[in-house]
Amino acid sequence: MKTSEMNDSDILAFHHSILTIDTHMDTPLRLKHEEIDLGQRYDPRQIKSKVDFPRMNQGGLDAAFFAIWTPQGLRTDSAHAAIKQKALDIIDLVREKLADYPEQAEIALVADDAQRLATENKHAIFMGMENGFPIGTDIQNVNLFYERGVRYMTLCHTSNNEICDSSNDTTEFGGLSPFGFQVVERMNRLGMMVDVSHLSDASVADVLATTKAPIIASYSCSKAMCDNPRNINDNLLTQIAANGGVVQMCLYSEYIKPEAPNPDREAIRGALWKKYGDPALIEGEQKLAYRVEKNAMDRTNPQILPSVSEAVDHIDYIVKLIGIDHVGIGTDFDGGAGLSDCFDVSELPNITKELVNRGYSKEDIRKIWSGNLIRVFREVESLAL
Ligand SMILES: [Zn+2]
Repeated sequence: MKTSEMNDSDILAFHHSILTIDTHMDTPLRLKHEEIDLGQRYDPRQIKSKVDFPRMNQGGLDAAFFAIWTPQGLRTDSAHAAIKQKALDIIDLVREKLADYPEQAEIALVADDAQRLATENKHAIFMGMENGFPIGTDIQNVNLFYERGVRYMTLCHTSNNEICDSSNDTTEFGGLSPFGFQVVERMNRLGMMVDVSHLSDASVADVLATTKAPIIASYSCSKAMCDNPRNINDNLLTQIAANGGVVQMCLYSEYIKPEAPNPDREAIRGALWKKYGDPALIEGEQKLAYRVEKNAMDRTNPQILPSVSEAVDHIDYIVKLIGIDHVGIGTDFDGGAGLSDCFDVSELPNITKELVNRGYSKEDIRKIWSGNLIRVFREVESLAL
């Protein structure tokens, strides 16, 4: 059956029949702070959680990269040692939480694990490291994290680190640092994918000039469509295509379109910050009190989120510019993402529906949902020394 002949139930059946991979989920944060149990179903409007096995099953998501995220801190030896330990602890936490559900999921280490585990009706959980800060200044740490199961590394987060300049910080190295070039070379050698999301344009250009393997942007959108420093401009998109890489479209609202002014919500949010401090750091009973007030704000002054259609506009744009072989999906669920009609992982089929309605073929949709990423991942593996 051609996609043009599909009705809604055909689309849903097709979505569940294909291999789907999401390259960016911050679920480890929720495992840690909300102590969520992956086997239990949560309501994303009650608790900050958009990913669990029941909702992954409903949303037809086979495989995911869980982000081992660490915030950027001081670039001192002691801070590097502390954050390295923290990243290792998060990896252990992911492994522990998955060990409770051996029938439902496994840690995945090679590209082919995605399809193998999907065939066994299990979720393949890969690990990607979001921020190279835990590498510090010791190249051997790249090997260490690879050995612990990390299969991509986002070289930086929202600040510069020892590896490169960030898109949200000032120019320090003018791209990769001398150490950063070594890191890219080591990642190529190990077979770890280089992730350029969060990097400054000059850093991305340096990575492209250095890498021997195709690269990924694990969750980024088009800068021409939405002028956010985190998004990727046409020139770099074209270069990523020439490199054979892939850009994974993200569902984070500010990367899809600039937020419309909402002064009432801003005022309440400001008051909550004043009262509780940074929401990410609230502990104990305060957390519950904060959540009650935050939920009340979301009811009275909801954030106006972009739609699936506006997100898929980014896919259309990238496909028109560089072709169907260089785009995929990395939602950023559990890291702040959500659309009005794709608020958590259970609603992913709405993306497939939109792609079908826009005339993408089955083959195109397979490439977007996993084919392109798997191609890159395999190539990175085959080029490892
Ligand atoms: Zn993240």
